[in-house]
Amino acid sequence: MPAEERRMPCPRCGTPMEYWVEIELGDGYKKIKYYYKCPRCGYRLQDEIIVVRRNGSNIIVEREEYRRRSIATRVGRRVHS
Ligand SMILES: [Zn+2]
Repeated sequence: MPAEERRMPCPRCGTPMEYWVEIELGDGYKKIKYYYKCPRCGYRLQDEIIVVRRNGSNIIVEREEYRRRSIATRVGRRVHS
């Protein structure tokens, strides 16, 4: 895997982040998580999640993309009760 090409600096400390792949096996599905992880401060940035399901002889691939910007917008909005 060309990990070097995917390197990007950590938004927290500026250290080049490492690209990681995590595979989670579930009941009838396989979840593949791609993310960046900072080796210095441990900051984790989700890139995308791919879910592979088996439906009989068919294989269904679902792709979820995570955008950090939308999360930041949600956090920035505060509700006063
Ligand atoms: Zn960092």
